[in-house]
Amino acid sequence: MCPEYEDLLVAYDALEREERTHLDAHLKLCPRCSDYLLLLSHLDKSFSALGAMKAPSGFRRSLSERLDRERKLSFVPEVLDFLVGVSFILLTGLGLSHAVNEAYLLPTVILVLFGLSVWAGLQAYNELRT
Ligand SMILES: [Zn+2]
Repeated sequence: MCPEYEDLLVAYDALEREERTHLDAHLKLCPRCSDYLLLLSHLDKSFSALGAMKAPSGFRRSLSERLDRERKLSFVPEVLDFLVGVSFILLTGLGLSHAVNEAYLLPTVILVLFGLSVWAGLQAYNELRT
C-alpha cells in the first residue's frame, strides 16, 4: 500500500466524492492499494460478524478511577516548571549581581546549567511516564 493513500483507504466508506474519485483512479493503477482495501473490507466484515461486545463488569468505574488518578498527577509538572522557572530567575539574578566578582560567575553558571539539566531530565522522565 502506498503510504500517502493509507488514511484515504482506511476512511474509504466515509470519503467525500472528490476524494473517492481520486482514490478510485489510483486503485485502478495500484494493485497494492487495491489489495489493502480488500483486506480492510474483510477485516470490517469480520468485526461486524462478532457483533456488539459487552465490557466486563466494573470496567467503566475502574476506567473512571484511573482517569481521576492521572488527572491528580498532572499538576506535578506545572509545579515543577514554576519552581524551576523561579529558581532560574533567582540564580540568573544572583549570577548577574555578582558578575563583577568573577569568582561567583563560574559556580553560578554551573549551578544554572545543572538546574536546567535536572529539569530537562525530569521533563523527559515525565514524558516517558505518560
Ligand atoms: Zn497505491
